[in-house]
Amino acid sequence: MHVFIAGANGQIGQHLLREIANSDHEARAMVRHPEQGPELQQLGATETVVGDLEQDCSEAMKGCDAVIFAAGSGPHTGPDKTTDVDQDGAIRLIDSAKAVGIKRFVIVSSMGAEDPENGPEKLRHYLQAKHNADEHLKNSGLNYTIVRPGQLIDDEGTGKLAVSAGQGDFGKIPRQDVARVLLAVLDTDTTINRVFEVASGDTPVAEALAKL
Ligand code: NAP
Repeated sequence: MHVFIAGANGQIGQHLLREIANSDHEARAMVRHPEQGPELQQLGATETVVGDLEQDCSEAMKGCDAVIFAAGSGPHTGPDKTTDVDQDGAIRLIDSAKAVGIKRFVIVSSMGAEDPENGPEKLRHYLQAKHNADEHLKNSGLNYTIVRPGQLIDDEGTGKLAVSAGQGDFGKIPRQDVARVLLAVLDTDTTINRVFEVASGDTPVAEALAKL
């Protein structure tokens, strides 16, 4: 598959490019600044395009078979950027994917996004933004997968997961393992139109996804 990656220069995004380089898939990495391109091509992107989720990215996506949304406004910006990027940016990208005929859409959401009201107070705005984007994707008609990781850590991945369909306990997961999940999702059709939470655990990635 030719995979369009939003957030390719991010920490999960860069792990994902390394994983894709060793797969049958090809990555089109979207970056905000052209100078980010060469390094991502070295990591594994087949091509890079410049785009911003706060704008229309339709042209940049044309010709791809699938989208992986691994972007996020991050912890150093305020709630307005969470709305602009994590919610509205994701929604705009979902609509653009539909408009240009892309059928498959995988989004990095967050554990707790199913029920923001019951999440930790300081995360509620963020979880609501993720929830709203997830709901838009579910109702889009695209073949979606919503991946909801627990707290992201920088440890080396173990390749082993605890996957659940319900309310998680905010367990942790290395970013490298989230990237492995995103890649495996592309190759596992039973993940289509599924939402699941993921943290570190005991089950190898492919086996954990097959059990969904
Ligand atoms: P990250 O390193 O901060 O990467 C985020 C990426 O999004 C960056 O590449 C950034 O671009 C890009 N981005 C931000 N605004 C953008 C815009 N307007 N247009 C295009 N790209 C934009 O984040 P991460 O650690 O890889 O995590 C990413 C995902 O995990 C997010 O969806 C986040 O909500 C989710 N998540 C996080 C946690 C957690 O514990 N932190 C838990 C669950 C889920 P630049 O490189 O140009 O800055």
